Amino acid sequence: MTSSHRRQAASASILSLLLATLAPACGDSGTSSTGGTGGSGGTTGGTTTGGTAGSTGGATGGTGGAAQAPEAQDILSTDIALDLGNLTGAAKVVAWPTKATGQVTLEVGGLTVSEVLVEGAAADYMVDQGMAAIHVTDGTKPATIDIKYSFQEKGDTFDGWMPSSGVTFLWPYFCSNLFPCDSHPDDGAVFTMSVTGYDPGLTAVYPTTTTSDAPSYMPAVAVGDFIKQDLGKTTAGTSISSWFFAGQEADAAAGTANLKAVFDFYEKTYGPYSFGKETGSVSAKWGPGAFGGMEHHPYVHVAFEDFGNEEVHAHEAAHGWYGDGVRIACWEDFMLSEGTVTYMAAHSLERVGGPNLWPSYVDSLDLICTGQDVNTVALPDTCNAIDLLNDPLWSLVPYIKGACFYEDVADVIGQDALDGALSEFYAAHVGGAAHMQDMIDLVKTKATQAQQATIDTLVTEWLRTEACPANYATRCSTHQNP
Ligand SMILES: [Zn+2]
Repeated sequence: MTSSHRRQAASASILSLLLATLAPACGDSGTSSTGGTGGSGGTTGGTTTGGTAGSTGGATGGTGGAAQAPEAQDILSTDIALDLGNLTGAAKVVAWPTKATGQVTLEVGGLTVSEVLVEGAAADYMVDQGMAAIHVTDGTKPATIDIKYSFQEKGDTFDGWMPSSGVTFLWPYFCSNLFPCDSHPDDGAVFTMSVTGYDPGLTAVYPTTTTSDAPSYMPAVAVGDFIKQDLGKTTAGTSISSWFFAGQEADAAAGTANLKAVFDFYEKTYGPYSFGKETGSVSAKWGPGAFGGMEHHPYVHVAFEDFGNEEVHAHEAAHGWYGDGVRIACWEDFMLSEGTVTYMAAHSLERVGGPNLWPSYVDSLDLICTGQDVNTVALPDTCNAIDLLNDPLWSLVPYIKGACFYEDVADVIGQDALDGALSEFYAAHVGGAAHMQDMIDLVKTKATQAQQATIDTLVTEWLRTEACPANYATRCSTHQNP
């Protein structure tokens, strides 16, 4: 997510939290409380984007027989079939159950569940407080769970399928308004998607498979009268495209002017992209006054009104490496996602000859440090003790103090050494979850002993202290060791 969209989504999401209603109900599969899936309203005349070769088909991970059963539940893959006309869905979840209970527990708070099967047979399950506890008969292998359900249309609340905008929006923990899930940020699964029931004259942009593990807020669909523009392939062969609306041609040209070069820089500098061979930016009609973007890889959403803004395209693309590629272990690690990609966006655009983002970052930093915007500790030391949307951490702080921290570290060890650390960390954690402290520890291995002490000071000043460092503006924008 890009910082400029933060306020809008925050207020909207808080509102939707208040409106969320959970319907506890127990039952065996077959006790249908809503109609079945019904026929698909409207055929899929639109172009389905994606089609990455080798659909995982739900059996990703856990295959190979010899996999050891984990202590805690682990979702391996989720196949999602959505009928946007009938507002029904079918999900195939492959998951290890919790060893001690023999259960798979999924969030279903915004759904009306009509059928649950385990290995194709009617399941013993209970829905209570928005959670479906499903008994799994064989705990020695991942269970295949099929769930049929209906979901609700949302207004401009940024917490589900928003037909007036033509997009889904699930960040940070609203996946259960669209499919059964685990919204904890460390939980990752391969998602496959199919979408039906939309106007056949329109195009639905969504990934048929994410190809590797992703957080629950990453899958998305955008339906609209899109113009698709091919921006070419990176050196590694990843196709870059953009999808926008008639009349946005100039914005699209400006906003994506360096997108292929930025993506090429990310691939060459940080490692191979993990979400397929095709990616790009989709114009999202979030409504007037909504800016920024959302990291729905491989087809990230960029606000209609921000489509001409190179920062947003570069920022959302970078989430393919941090936030989505490497997930955050706790919500308190938000900075590992947002601070890292805020740095990557400025750094990459600088390297490919794009605009200089540092002055605008310093403007934001000024607001934080002078009390005109929220200030807080960028890296709290708890884990999932906060409700992110109702915490000061849901602010510009992790984005901007995070980016400035990295910039200051680059001043100490050099930009290339920092890039090396970001690349090494990505290789070690892609497809998994990590803490920001793990990153700090790795970065310090690139430093001399004296530099390590300096980095410790930077951690204290930028990340562990609410008050801003002295000379914050100069320190954040001046490159001393490029
Ligand atoms: Zn972001």
